[in-house]
Amino acid sequence: MKLNPMELYNLLPKTNCRLCEAKTCMAFATKLALGDVSPDECPPLLEEGFQEKLEKIREMVAPLQSAAETGVKLDESKCTGCGNCVVVCPVDVAAEPPTSEGKAAMGTATVFRVENGISKIINLEKCRRFPPDRLNCRVCEQYCCTDAIEIW
Ligand code: SF4
Ligand code: SF4
Ligand code: SF4
Repeated sequence: MKLNPMELYNLLPKTNCRLCEAKTCMAFATKLALGDVSPDECPPLLEEGFQEKLEKIREMVAPLQSAAETGVKLDESKCTGCGNCVVVCPVDVAAEPPTSEGKAAMGTATVFRVENGISKIINLEKCRRFPPDRLNCRVCEQYCCTDAIEIW
């Protein structure tokens, strides 16, 4: 799930007042798109006249914040692209059962996908830890031999 910082920026007050501690509204929008900050950290957005925009931003970032709640982190610098995470994740297995050649999934409905020799999280909202199920799955972490996957 990817958010466009420009779309978020267009909903911000655009005063560059720095009350959020970002250098500019665009910098804050970029952080919002990465899920590093909450829209409530922009004080002017909480003022009268911005309710509609605030609600829209909250709506846009909600899936991202829920994904962050899964606690699944992938450090691409430690990944060797072995594909273990793809083949052991129960969501990935159900979405794309392994082929007879044992090929790692290359679909679009999986949590992980190996691209150019590196695993990437492409659908964290499909993880079993994602709300509302919040199952205590840690299979990918257990089978990653380089500790690239960490669940906190
Ligand atoms: S507090 Fe809001 S208006 Fe001020 S710089 Fe940050 S994002 Fe922009
Ligand atoms: S925690 Fe479980 S469901 Fe979530 S990505 Fe890892 S293996 Fe898949
Ligand atoms: S199991 Fe770990 S090292 Fe292997 S592809 Fe997945 S993240 Fe990378």
